[in-house]
Amino acid sequence: KEDLTVGQLAEQIEKPASDVIKTLMQLGIMASINHSLDRDTVELIGEEAGFEVKDEVVTDATKFEDFVIEDSDEDLQERPPVVTIMGHVDHGKTTLLDAIRHSRVVNSEAGGITQHIGAYQVEKDGKKITFIDTPGHAAFTEMRARGAKVTDLVIIVVAADDGVMPQTREAIDHAKAAECPIIVAINKMDKPTANPDRVMQELTEYNLIPEEWGGNTVFVKVSALKGEGIDECLDMINLAAEMEELKANPKRLASGTVVEAKLDKGRGTVATILVQNGTLRIGDAIVIGKTYGRVRAMANDINQEVKEAGPSTPVEIIGIHEVPLAGDPFMVFSDDKEARKIAEARESNVKREEQKTTKAVSLDDLFAQI
Ligand code: GDP
Ligand code: MG
Repeated sequence: KEDLTVGQLAEQIEKPASDVIKTLMQLGIMASINHSLDRDTVELIGEEAGFEVKDEVVTDATKFEDFVIEDSDEDLQERPPVVTIMGHVDHGKTTLLDAIRHSRVVNSEAGGITQHIGAYQVEKDGKKITFIDTPGHAAFTEMRARGAKVTDLVIIVVAADDGVMPQTREAIDHAKAAECPIIVAINKMDKPTANPDRVMQELTEYNLIPEEWGGNTVFVKVSALKGEGIDECLDMINLAAEMEELKANPKRLASGTVVEAKLDKGRGTVATILVQNGTLRIGDAIVIGKTYGRVRAMANDINQEVKEAGPSTPVEIIGIHEVPLAGDPFMVFSDDKEARKIAEARESNVKREEQKTTKAVSLDDLFAQI
């Protein structure tokens, strides 16, 4: 292995070079910042500073971005939008998701369909729309905190008889922070006390101004309970999606994000994932969060077995070793060996990051006690 200079070592152990030089002096070594140190000295100083010195430098090729090859324009094809529904508790998120699902389910006759996973697809005028059905802002923020961007569009549900409430504001903040276009669904229009004008008025405060008032936010009036306005809502989603020009390359190996995952007694790890680019196939070698595996079987949102899944498709997969977290990225590699090597490197990188954080915390604690 190559020797480290004093400067490089200081950087690795996150200490000022002057400290390293001082410590070296105490050991009787006079060294400048560009001075090369032998392995024993590196080990001595490194371990003094609380680090484990390893001969093999972990390659930094553990971020998926490092493997991403840009798609060329001619490979890019339109993909369905991925939509999340947010809003204040009891304003009708679940009812709206149900109403949409029952209005038109892909691949089957409507009605009597039990949804199988935390995401589903519907089709309107020949265009698919994917809904992520992990309601609650926590799931959204958790995924975003982990660096995942899965949502193209946010629907903010506001009950016409209740107006803007704390979680409505929170939802708007999340959508804006994620730079997601917003569609406002004013729900419970069937109620005699419904007052959509008041909702629109209240939302102007957040710069969500309806087109009829000269703004550019799309509002739809619905009754999720009665299934009214659902078609228009889907039309608006398709229109907004068109403006976003959402594209992906179905010809490449798949990559995407974990929506949810659990350990199943009989089947092992079961993960619902959203394919965001490429096409996922049975047999693919997959690295997913800190773990890896081989896709043994795949099922769609209504529990039909599928052999492949293209961009914006949610599927449930089995065949991975450990349980990943919601928001973890995944990527398919051309063979098992490579997948495994990358998974191991990612894992040790994550461990290293965790060690750093632990150390930072304990240092802070120390200072807090002084
Ligand atoms: P969530 O907490 O946002 O998921 O809200 P839910 O979908 O669970 O709905 C809360 C309550 O409002 C339930 O009792 C629903 O039946 C009711 N609800 C939802 N949508 C409508 C609607 O369009 N009209 C009326 N009248 N009630 C609705
Ligand atoms: Mg709900």
